[in-house]
Amino acid sequence: MTKYIFICGGVMSGVGKGIATASIARILNWYGYRTTCIKIDPYVNVDAGTMNPIEHGEVFVLKDGTECDQDMGHYERFLDVELTRANYMTTGSIYLSLIQKERSLYFDGKCVEVVPHVPLEVIEKIDKAQRITRADVVITEIGGTVGEYQNLIFLEAVRILKLRKPDDVILVLVSYLPYQGEGMELKTKPTQYAIRSLNSAGLQPDFVLARAIHSLDEPRKWKIAFNCNLKPQDVISAPDEKNIYQIPLNFEKDDLGKKILKKLKLPIKNFSNANKLKWAKRIERISNLNNKIQLAVVGKYFQSGKFVLADAYISVIEAVKHASWYLGYLPHIDWLNSEDFEKDNTKLVVLKNYQGVIIPGGFGKRGVEGKIKAIKFCRENRIPLLGLCYGLQLMVVEFARNVCHLKGAHTTEIDSKTKHPVIDILESQKNLLREKLYGGTMRLGNWPCYIKKNTIAHQAYRNYVAIERHRHRYEVNPKYQNILQENGLIFSGIYKEKRKDLSSLVLAEIIELDQKVHPFFVGTQFHPEFKSTFLSPHPLFLKFILNAGRK
Ligand code: GLN
Repeated sequence: MTKYIFICGGVMSGVGKGIATASIARILNWYGYRTTCIKIDPYVNVDAGTMNPIEHGEVFVLKDGTECDQDMGHYERFLDVELTRANYMTTGSIYLSLIQKERSLYFDGKCVEVVPHVPLEVIEKIDKAQRITRADVVITEIGGTVGEYQNLIFLEAVRILKLRKPDDVILVLVSYLPYQGEGMELKTKPTQYAIRSLNSAGLQPDFVLARAIHSLDEPRKWKIAFNCNLKPQDVISAPDEKNIYQIPLNFEKDDLGKKILKKLKLPIKNFSNANKLKWAKRIERISNLNNKIQLAVVGKYFQSGKFVLADAYISVIEAVKHASWYLGYLPHIDWLNSEDFEKDNTKLVVLKNYQGVIIPGGFGKRGVEGKIKAIKFCRENRIPLLGLCYGLQLMVVEFARNVCHLKGAHTTEIDSKTKHPVIDILESQKNLLREKLYGGTMRLGNWPCYIKKNTIAHQAYRNYVAIERHRHRYEVNPKYQNILQENGLIFSGIYKEKRKDLSSLVLAEIIELDQKVHPFFVGTQFHPEFKSTFLSPHPLFLKFILNAGRK
């Protein structure tokens, strides 16, 4: 018998519903239950692939190529699993599949209505994810904030499911408590209104997770409980926490796992503390670390200094943390705006303050020349450098210009008429763009990468093949592979495919320089950051941090 937990948010967005969802799933794992997480995004976009990361945060990519919300990344990082498109939906995708069904006469002449057909489609999708993952408990996060028009239809799905299976469905409200005055008193009224709003949708939360700058005291727990028909023990304090991986343990201090199982009428089966202890041990080790490692990310989606839109690079940050912690370092990341280097070459010396530099993925023209300058500086000054996707492409541009002396070499993404298109779009991609087919058409998701012996890549993976996730339209131009290699660029990872005419297509997946020339100059066409988890750091990030630590 499947059980369902729904997570929704109160008062404001960004209160940490994703982390709460992942944490609850992890806790129920510790109690011996198979769990899976689903994210519902209330946007009309069919997926997150067409959304701007500045507005929406990073576009996460699943193994099957689904471009989705960054919360899917949190689920994978907490649960150590690889999810699929079955675990992600948006308003757009639900309507799309409903309309496709209608067009194929699935409804047999009936009038198809927003209610009940949309919520029923949502429930069907949730059940499909359950079947695929064989989860005992499905935890579904409803994006947005209670009270807004956009997610009402999803709350209606919760109401219908609860009506059908009253013993198998619970609702958790993750709500924000603002503070006021010198004593920083937490205010409960906005949360009370959020619960009223749920009530008017026919729903009553089973738990309230009280997100706030500090812990919620008993009188205020009581206040929320008394005014909103809850028991005080079901109002759980969820103060800000520096290390997000600590949160499941914090929830457990309030016995959230057992309380949830009780409400779902599930026994505490095969309870073995071993996995919980393993997790707690890691957390404890991290809290005792004091060896700092100084890293810089050179990119464009943020301003230098204080204001950082770190959400746009959340997987990179998490992957750096996983690897650093594993190797006994506390990572400190500075965000350097590549545009600053464009205007002023003397600013590049700042890079010498860092043990390692990352050039993350990206699109478009802004800040590109600054990134290329930063790459040159790191190459010439032997600063460990990791380039991710666009990062690899710009490393190749830099190498072509300054080592192979291909004057004006560029990517055709920026300069379609460049004399040396060392990075170019694949023919198959060109046709898609001509027809304006932008959604879900990049080279996406898992592709195999074959690894060369005696390379940094091989030392990292200790394997001849790696499966990694992609999201790009451009490639190292096969016509330039020879000249790049002749000048010392090593293609340590490649993708190989036989074409229909039996010629073979070889694409660069990992590039590097010989370690005799540079301690760590590595670029990947894929995004290793999408496969790093709290318990299993990614081998390339480990190798990068290891080398950075030596500087
Ligand atoms: N803009 C580049 C491309 O489309 C790189 C994309 C990325 O970094 N994800 O190929």
